[in-house]
Amino acid sequence: MQDLLITVAVPRPLDSLFTYRISSDLAERVRVGSWVLVPFGRTKLHAFAVDEPKPADAIPPGLEFEKLKQVLEVGPESSVIPGEVFELCKWTHEYYHSPLGEVLHAAMPGAALGLKSARREARQLEQSGRVPGVLHELTARQQEAFEALEQIRHRTLEKGSSRVALLHGVTGSGKTEVYLSVARKALDEGRSVLILAPEIALTPQLHERFEAALGERVGLWHSALPDAQRRDQTAAMMSGTLRVVIGARSAVFCPLRDLGLIVVDEEHDSTYKQEDRVRYHARDLAVVRGRMGGALVVLGSATPSLDTLERVREGKYAKVDLPERVMSRAMPQIDVVDLAEEPRVEGIQAVMAERTLEAIRQELDAGNQVMVFLNRRGFAAFLLCEECSEVSGCPHCSISLTVHKRNRELRCHVCGHLEQIPDACAKCRSDRLIPVGAGTESLEDELPKLLPEARILRLDRDQVTSATRLSDVLERFRKKEGNLLLGTQMLVKGHDFPGVTLVVAILADALFRYPDFRAPERALQILTQVAGRAGRGEMPGRVMVQTFSPEHPVIQVLCGESGIEEFLEGERELREALRYPPFARLARIRVESPERAHARRDALRLSEHLSALVREMPAIEILGPSEAFLERAKGITRWDLLIKSTSVRDLHRIVNAARAASRGGLESHVLVDIDPSGVG
Ligand SMILES: [Zn+2]
Ligand SMILES: [Zn+2]
Repeated sequence: MQDLLITVAVPRPLDSLFTYRISSDLAERVRVGSWVLVPFGRTKLHAFAVDEPKPADAIPPGLEFEKLKQVLEVGPESSVIPGEVFELCKWTHEYYHSPLGEVLHAAMPGAALGLKSARREARQLEQSGRVPGVLHELTARQQEAFEALEQIRHRTLEKGSSRVALLHGVTGSGKTEVYLSVARKALDEGRSVLILAPEIALTPQLHERFEAALGERVGLWHSALPDAQRRDQTAAMMSGTLRVVIGARSAVFCPLRDLGLIVVDEEHDSTYKQEDRVRYHARDLAVVRGRMGGALVVLGSATPSLDTLERVREGKYAKVDLPERVMSRAMPQIDVVDLAEEPRVEGIQAVMAERTLEAIRQELDAGNQVMVFLNRRGFAAFLLCEECSEVSGCPHCSISLTVHKRNRELRCHVCGHLEQIPDACAKCRSDRLIPVGAGTESLEDELPKLLPEARILRLDRDQVTSATRLSDVLERFRKKEGNLLLGTQMLVKGHDFPGVTLVVAILADALFRYPDFRAPERALQILTQVAGRAGRGEMPGRVMVQTFSPEHPVIQVLCGESGIEEFLEGERELREALRYPPFARLARIRVESPERAHARRDALRLSEHLSALVREMPAIEILGPSEAFLERAKGITRWDLLIKSTSVRDLHRIVNAARAASRGGLESHVLVDIDPSGVG
């Protein structure tokens, strides 16, 4: 029998697919989505078959059959990527411009290895059987939400309708109980269930809760999972013995069979955006996967994203409300500390009002616990007028300008706008202009000196690299080995610490002045979650929010002075006027080089090239090039072009043109990010 041809995708950052020869007996066993072992350069790789084998005369032009290399091995039937997942990978590859082989590899990283142990695991599962789960009784509100979701799950799909619902539930309203009830129903009908949650590695309680409630084994899926466990779970999913998985963003690709329900908890969370190697947004992919397989997709949040709200407004997604807190626990009291007015602690770099420090002391003296929340690291300073709280913003992008002291400049990290640091405030002519934001992280060193009696635990991504060590710190805080927990936004995830009576946000401005068009929306989401950390136990909680701008809309909503609808409407109008998502799509084209001059030169060349192309494309606007926010990290200089487009097709045309140009002779490396999460 003559050899056949097979097209494969290799797990390498390469755009092209490769053709190999395959013997007729191996060709019998190969399927679309099978892994195949192939020689590649000087090594061997586990690649993936992307179509059926073809006869030798179907060889693509320019290739010689005799010179093709041979497929060495084909994976067993049990390891073939299921059709739905394969289609999702192809969609990801086309939409996000990620190499297909890398996407397939991300979906099935351990597929090629040790499936024997996995089969044993699957057998064990079958033998162990199932114990009846214990679901809590639903409150009247939860029951209503559950019934509404069930209706959507069984909805017949007509043109324009979908099975996507936003479950909008305030913090503490018991969204999880509703998820569990819908999950139970889907499982009873023989379908499987996928739950996506941010920072899943840090919340093992959620996993235990699902197992107890559903009465069957629940898989746990995240990037820190040991290989053996990943392999076992993969096999169990493929064989249909594992039907429920809770996971981080990468779980959106997991090979669960016949999905009936996908839950995206905290749908607004920015960690759903994958930024390394294969770039994608797991929430958006969950919607795509749900559509492909006919599953109900529930997007849960107390503070939904504007993107999702806009889909609701357009009638594409349904909205189900869960308005009541269980056991009517009081919302914590928000205390806004005006940093421009109140006396500040002197002799430290960080900003701290005397009143805040005093409040922390009091709680610690009373034997309670306190959480102190710093802004994220790597934050650059913005310029603030101490007189009228005006912050210098970009005239083109409505984004805070960043202070660069060295050259006495203000810069926009989106469009590249540049100006001298002014002598007086543009609004009130005061000369009391101060850079704010940088130096906040010095609090880590300063706090122990201010509060020598405190037993401080720290939680920071830089210090705590592994998920295990992170949950370690949280566990120690829960056991009251410390009475003050200091950290960045890691603090805001869904941990319950009943002993915490005071939560302090050191500088709210660092969130809503962050140079990104989503900053106010994100700030409100994060601060709402921060506030939710206080008073989870018996004692009433208190939240102190330090800010230079107590009049800012985010603060106004947070302390109940204005409604969230009003705030969202304001943000929506601004986005529409400036053509930001959800009213346009964005792509970021990043030009990287170890040579400072190359990155800049290539970004300018690319910009000129693309600008010439878009003259005939009114849907497109090109911003930049501008030096990236963290302009030189790890010895690499980065320049960004931001493409805004009201047409998805035109956006992809420009991105393809940029990729073609980069292949045609730029010295720098070009990276594409569709729907980037941080713009700035
Ligand atoms: Zn002013
Ligand atoms: Zn700008």
